[in-house]
Amino acid sequence: MATGADETWDVVVVGAGTAGNYAAATIANAGYDVLVLERKSETEAGHIACGDALKGATDFPEAIPRSYIEPAMTNTEVDHGRFEIPEHDTVLEIPVPGELAVVDRWKYGQCIIDGATDAGAAFRYDTVVQGVEQDDDGTVTGVITRRNGDARHIGADVVIDAAGALSILQDDVDFDGTTFDTNVSYDQFCSAYREIVEVTEEVPWKDALVFKPTQRAAGYLWYFPRTGTEINAGLGFQMNEEPMELVEVLKRDLREREEFAGATVKDKRGAALPTRRPYDSAVAPGFLAVGDAAAHVNPTTGGGIAGAAYSGAYAGEQAIRAIEAGTVAEDALWTYNERVMDHFGARYAALDVYNILSTAVDVDDLMGLLAALPGQKLAEALYGGTTDLGWGLKARIAVDSFGYWRLIGRLYKTKQLADELLAHYERYPASPDGFADWQAERDRIMDRIYDRTGAEPKY
Ligand SMILES: Cc1cc2nc3c(=O)[nH]c(=O)nc-3n(C[C@H](O)[C@H](O)[C@H](O)COP(=O)(O)OP(=O)(O)OC[C@H]3O[C@@H](n4cnc5c(N)ncnc54)[C@H](O)[C@@H]3O)c2cc1C
Repeated sequence: MATGADETWDVVVVGAGTAGNYAAATIANAGYDVLVLERKSETEAGHIACGDALKGATDFPEAIPRSYIEPAMTNTEVDHGRFEIPEHDTVLEIPVPGELAVVDRWKYGQCIIDGATDAGAAFRYDTVVQGVEQDDDGTVTGVITRRNGDARHIGADVVIDAAGALSILQDDVDFDGTTFDTNVSYDQFCSAYREIVEVTEEVPWKDALVFKPTQRAAGYLWYFPRTGTEINAGLGFQMNEEPMELVEVLKRDLREREEFAGATVKDKRGAALPTRRPYDSAVAPGFLAVGDAAAHVNPTTGGGIAGAAYSGAYAGEQAIRAIEAGTVAEDALWTYNERVMDHFGARYAALDVYNILSTAVDVDDLMGLLAALPGQKLAEALYGGTTDLGWGLKARIAVDSFGYWRLIGRLYKTKQLADELLAHYERYPASPDGFADWQAERDRIMDRIYDRTGAEPKY
């Protein structure tokens, strides 16, 4: 722990978002002292740019009981995605399995802070973490904060970075000699923007998440109904593409949709999100990164709330184990990496392959192909694993998708490589010892992916 610190804690968590609150609640529930530092005010905390779609909340970590987040779930009737492809005069309705809710995101943010507070975590607002302290061996021993102009040194056995996308903490840590992933750049991120729009009459798709492609690879508009009359409308694009005028494109689309005639905008916000593979390693001595700060986001949908909740809980549990073992060295924190990869990291890394492919194919071809496929079967293919389409249907798909066969061939080859990558991530090493070899083999698979898809290397 830092010598000469103004105060010391077992664990300091930077950021009071989903990842930070689940980490803090986990640690506090176990009886350890944990302090959450948040740059926003107490009232503004939890107010972030988001699509507000919460998937799988029934299975969220128990550190914050579900009863805390239920009051923020304003729409629990959503059971399918509605994919609008106007260029091909098609609307696909695809059922979504499992629980899905659209939430009042600010309220949800405040609810999880209540959950972590009731578990025993301490919070300090209006406090910007500007950097970290490291000892001579490179172990992170605390953070340096600024609040109302005053600097303060706060010591901790473990620092958890839950400061979101492009966290500034990671610019300050000297990661030399650690496994922590520093192969991170803004062009692996997505820039996104959303408005909360109030309409006068209930929309006819209150039970659906509406998606519509933008005229740009890897970009889409969304309309998610918080209620029948309060809609979260937003869009995003991958930052390795030409910049898009997000506000203008959204405004144009809203103007063209009759449901939004006479609508009023209640709130506007934009942010970056990591539409990339999860960090290869999110640990360094005395330091763990969670949620967006470690790219724990589904790179094809941008959904990151569930990944943030789970990685927060796993990091909290690992911090406790390390403190109890009397060492916060990298190998004492390693199991955290393994648990993330095992639960969702491997799958997200494989999904990233389709993101990479989408930068190399014509988006109109992709939409044309989607429009040619029957929605129900597409849903089964997406969620059900193997499907027996039956000969009649196969023949129909073959006829309808004529003209897209080359693209189907590319998709098939890409899927084979994504499967190979997934199998490799499932062999994620059990300690830092096997890490360099594991990375080298992964990079060889990635080279073949760039080669077959024709995409520019992303990493
Ligand atoms: C426009 C948009 C739409 C999205 N839509 C969805 C969706 O519909 N469903 C979904 O599941 N996910 C969605 N996501 C992703 C999801 O919002 C994130 O993955 C998730 O919120 C990550 O949580 P987090 O706790 O890691 O980070 P955050 O929620 O970003 O929390 C980080 C916290 O750290 C604080 N902080 C940052 N730096 C400092 C500092 N230096 N000192 C002190 N405090 C600091 C911030 O103020 C913030 O409170 C969307 C993201 C965007 C941008």
